Amino acid sequence: MPGGGSFIYHLENNQVYVGFVVHLNYENPHLFPYREFQRFKHHPMVAELLKGGKRVAYGARAITEGGWQSMPKLEFPGGALLGCAAGMVNVPRIKGNHNAMLSGIAAAEAAVAAIAVGRSGDLLDGYEADVRGGPIAKDLKRVRNVKPLWSRYGLFASLIGGGVDMWTNSIVPGLSIFGTLKHGKSDAAATGKAADHPIIDYPKPDGTLSFDRLTNVAFSFTNHEESQPAHLHLADASIPVDRNLPDFAGPSARYCPAGVYEFVGEGAATKFQINFQNCVHCKTCDIKDPAQNITWTVPQGGDGPNYPNM
Ligand code: SF4
Repeated sequence: MPGGGSFIYHLENNQVYVGFVVHLNYENPHLFPYREFQRFKHHPMVAELLKGGKRVAYGARAITEGGWQSMPKLEFPGGALLGCAAGMVNVPRIKGNHNAMLSGIAAAEAAVAAIAVGRSGDLLDGYEADVRGGPIAKDLKRVRNVKPLWSRYGLFASLIGGGVDMWTNSIVPGLSIFGTLKHGKSDAAATGKAADHPIIDYPKPDGTLSFDRLTNVAFSFTNHEESQPAHLHLADASIPVDRNLPDFAGPSARYCPAGVYEFVGEGAATKFQINFQNCVHCKTCDIKDPAQNITWTVPQGGDGPNYPNM
C-alpha cells in the first residue's frame, strides 16, 4: 500500500484547492497517480464540496520530502539552491514555505554581503553555513527520521516512532534513539515488476468531478515553443520499449501527470513518444523511471506551466 495524503484549502470567492499526494516509492508499476487523484474527488465528502463547481486550474509537482539528510550542497558558483529546490519541507508539519522564506532571507543577506565587497559569480559564502547552523537546521533536524520511518514501517509505526523521536529531539536538540536514519531504496529502485503486482482498474472520468488527463493539462496553461529540442532526455532511447514496457508495463505512461509519455503502436512496431509540449515540470519522470534513463532539463525561454492563483 503506497503512502500519501491529500489536502483541501479554502480560498476567497468560494474557491478550493484540492490536492492529492502519492509517495513515489510505490511498488506496483500499474499504479496511476493521476487517476488516484480523480478517484479521490469522488469520495462523498470531497464530491459534496465540489458539487456544482467549475474546474479553473490544474498542476502537479514532486515534493522533495527527503529532509535534512537529503539536502544537497546548496552553493555553486553564481547561484544557490533555496526552499523546496533544496528539500526543506518539514514532513510532519506538512509545510515548507517557512523554510523557503528563511532560506530566501539567508541567500539575500549573503548576496548583499558579496556585492558590498565587489564579488560576483563565485560561491555565495555564508549562505550554506547559515542554513546548516540556523533556524532551518533546527526545524529539519528534529524531524529527520519521520520520513525514513514512514517509508520503512508504514504510517502507524512511523507515527509512534516519529513521535518518540521528535519528543527526544525537543528535549535535547539533535538527540535521537535512531541516530540519523537513511532513506533506503531510491523511488526508482522501489518500483516492482509488473508481473508481480495486480493491474488496477480505474473508473472512467465522469467529466464533472473527474477529467481525462489531457483536458486537465490544458488548465495548467503550459506552453513550450514546438520548434525547440525536447527538454526531456533519454540516456538510452531503446530502454522504454525494450525494458520498461515488458518489465514494468511502461510506467511513464501512468506516473507522468501530463501524459507526456506514450507507447504508440503494437508489437515490434511499438514506439516511445515524448509529447514534451505538455510537460508541467513536476520532475517525476527524472525521479521514478526504474532505469533512471530520463533527465529533465530546463526548456528554453522560461517555457512551462503558467499557474493562475498558485
Ligand atoms: S514529463 Fe516528467 S517532468 Fe514533465 S510532467 Fe511528465 S513526469 Fe513531470
